[in-house]
Amino acid sequence: MTSSSLQHLIDANHAWAEGVSRQQPGFFQQLAKQQSPRYLWIGCSDSRVPANQVVALAPGEVFVHRNVGNVIVHSDLNALSVIQYAVDYLKVEHIMVVGHYGCGGVLAALHGQRVGLADNWLRHIGDVKMRHYARLASLCRHEQEDALCEMNAIEQAFNVAQTNVVRDAWKRGQPLCVHGWCYGLKDGKVKDLGVTMSCAEDAEQIYRAALQRYPCEAGASKA
Ligand SMILES: [Zn+2]
Repeated sequence: MTSSSLQHLIDANHAWAEGVSRQQPGFFQQLAKQQSPRYLWIGCSDSRVPANQVVALAPGEVFVHRNVGNVIVHSDLNALSVIQYAVDYLKVEHIMVVGHYGCGGVLAALHGQRVGLADNWLRHIGDVKMRHYARLASLCRHEQEDALCEMNAIEQAFNVAQTNVVRDAWKRGQPLCVHGWCYGLKDGKVKDLGVTMSCAEDAEQIYRAALQRYPCEAGASKA
């Protein structure tokens, strides 16, 4: 085996597949026929936040889209295509936008750290920071970091709720909830950010109420 070989991963894969087949005979044959996940997970690319493991779901149970900082931009055809396929064809019932504390993308945007090309992508999180600066300004550095990780997940969940795919699904009465979560790297636990939206009429009010939980101190100027 050369140092460039990934044989150890292929060996691990075969052992895993054989173990699953032993425990659940026919598992892969059944899954190969079709997928019918109930969930679409939109999360950060961070290696410490693997979608299936975090919520203990097996292959076939969660459709996944991940990018740096779990950002949903209205012109991102990649993310929009994932959402459209998940909602229109797979008929997922829940979309969870999952941020995580200690997110490198969020911290870079918050502290103005240069990353490179990704700076342009992280600018979307910088926009979230600017929009809620009055809520962040009164917090200490550590609190700001946690709050912006949460606020970013809330904002991106609302962006999902504003897509024409989700709006059209709600209009035709398709059951669909959009959630905002934040995952803790230190304890492995997900926090529900209280921004679950299930119809167009209430979405904006729920989004605004979720953000109002962060105190806004008038005249605050601390960065
Ligand atoms: Zn991250």
